[in-house]
Amino acid sequence: MPKYCMACNNSLVKGEEMICLKCDYEIPKTASHLDKTNFIAAKFYGKVHLQDAIAFYKFTKSGRVQQLLHRLKYHNKPELGKLIGRKYGHELMGTEVQSTYDLIVPVPLHKTKLRRRGYNQSAVFASGLGEVLEILVNDHALRRNVKTSTQTRKSRIERWKNVDNIFVVPKPEEVKEKRVLLVDDVITTGSTLESCARALLDSGCKSVGVAAIAAAK
Ligand SMILES: [Zn+2]
Repeated sequence: MPKYCMACNNSLVKGEEMICLKCDYEIPKTASHLDKTNFIAAKFYGKVHLQDAIAFYKFTKSGRVQQLLHRLKYHNKPELGKLIGRKYGHELMGTEVQSTYDLIVPVPLHKTKLRRRGYNQSAVFASGLGEVLEILVNDHALRRNVKTSTQTRKSRIERWKNVDNIFVVPKPEEVKEKRVLLVDDVITTGSTLESCARALLDSGCKSVGVAAIAAAK
């Protein structure tokens, strides 16, 4: 079976694993862990208080990062997510981020999507990240709320409230007083992470930071 780079499609040479050395070097990184007031953090200002808001790669449409994310999500490549998690872990090793968190929690996937895909791309990324940083991963701390049929009968304000209750923490004792690093595959508007972070903070987390594979400007 020919082995090729998941980002640029060129053939891999001996020693390369899923991503070629050239891509490893050339794909633009955000270096957001070095700047607390980075462009990702700015997406959450005035919405939810986050300890950190960081991402590994800069996301650009139709670029190599999009290719990576596409393969991770739709080409049955959970090991790619784990590999990227490990790479990011090595970048964050020894930084303040490593010593700031007790627990890594991935954004949960819809049940139907999880069944179809077989894995949660954020959870595999989380496992690689946790492995290198030696931080425990809990991939069931957050759950997506099931839509109820009563939603249509609710008032506008109740419906609005419901939007923010997409995520629940089924066992608050698992996150209580913990400093949680919440992880997702890509950050665009940040609204999903905002909802998750709020659910975690409402359940007694000490603090929440967010990290993703990639972030869009
Ligand atoms: Zn490549």
